Amino acid sequence: MSVFSNSAFDGHEHVAFYHDAKSGLKAIIAIHNTNLGPALGGCRMWPYASDEEALRDVLRLSRGMTYKSAMANLKLGGGKAVIIGNHRTQKTDALLHAMGDFVESLGGRYITAEDSGTSVADMKKIGERTAYAGGVVEGSEHGGDPSPTTAYGTFVGLKAAAQYRLGCSDLQGLKVAIQGVGNVGFRLAKYLHEAGAQLVVSDIFPDNTARAARELGAQVVEGDAIFDQPVDVFAPCALGAIINDETIGRLKAKVIAGAANNQLAEEHHGEMLQSREILYAPDYVINAGGIIDVYYQRTGGSAEALKAHVESIGDTLVQIFDRAAQTHTPTGVVANKIAEERFLKA
Ligand code: NAD
Repeated sequence: MSVFSNSAFDGHEHVAFYHDAKSGLKAIIAIHNTNLGPALGGCRMWPYASDEEALRDVLRLSRGMTYKSAMANLKLGGGKAVIIGNHRTQKTDALLHAMGDFVESLGGRYITAEDSGTSVADMKKIGERTAYAGGVVEGSEHGGDPSPTTAYGTFVGLKAAAQYRLGCSDLQGLKVAIQGVGNVGFRLAKYLHEAGAQLVVSDIFPDNTARAARELGAQVVEGDAIFDQPVDVFAPCALGAIINDETIGRLKAKVIAGAANNQLAEEHHGEMLQSREILYAPDYVINAGGIIDVYYQRTGGSAEALKAHVESIGDTLVQIFDRAAQTHTPTGVVANKIAEERFLKA
């Protein structure tokens, strides 16, 4: 298994491997860059098919966190952890405690948080062994779940993108297609509904779409039909890689603004969107509400300061859109450049 020559390595500062024989924990923590502050990023638990796959995932994800925190103007670097195992069958208190010991052993260079396969409750368990488990503050408004703040940030960002591309002063009558009305998507739908937007939604769980139809008057479409809707904005809030060779030609929307991670299947899809004059709000910029929330939970900032910080996502996007227009460069490429200017300079 190659580390330094791994194609996802990209100058990582620190990659640590940990095995605890008693609990069966096998985990990797990757710290990409700490120029701006300690590396914060989620801890994913997944039954990876191989150690190579786990390493690639953790390297890729931790690098992404450096860019995300830099763009969100947080004093944080980028890191990530993976636990190799099935979160439904192999997660025990002993395993989470061992993970806490692993995080603690890095002395605060890495701060962990919930991610796919781990929960706020798991972070509390990990936090019994380390001071560096984020998003577990008792009495916080939503019990440590960052989704409500992610949804609010996505709403702010969607509004900024729609105003920029469509010139609308408010969202009254704006048509928005949302793919995935789960934790983030449903809350985003609620904000949009309250602002007067008309919604079309899809989800693989009929309960979720039924709730959006019942409570928000959303139109429901099945499966992939969400890509064909005659809407102003497409908001991906489910899966990654949904902007690809197959879907781009189907989209009628002039704006893509949603919370899903890794929306572009490949980098050149950003160029395709640009040439079709579809304004793309880079995913890691618009969905940064969650990490901003975790940061404020850790540092004890006020609710007002948190809200103001999340609202700055709109200004950041406008800065990206302006530079992309001036330089004829895809918005995702511009976002990466701005992030690099920040964390490399620091
Ligand atoms: P979630 O699991 O609660 O919601 C996702 C929804 O998408 C579910 O309802 C699921 O049924 C639906 N879905 C899955 N496949 C689908 C498909 N093919 N078509 C339509 N719907 C489909 O997850 P979430 O927390 O709401 O996160 C949504 C997205 O936002 C994910 O990509 C996640 O990585 C990203 N994100 C979330 C946060 C956060 O704070 N929760 C932060 C940043 C990014």
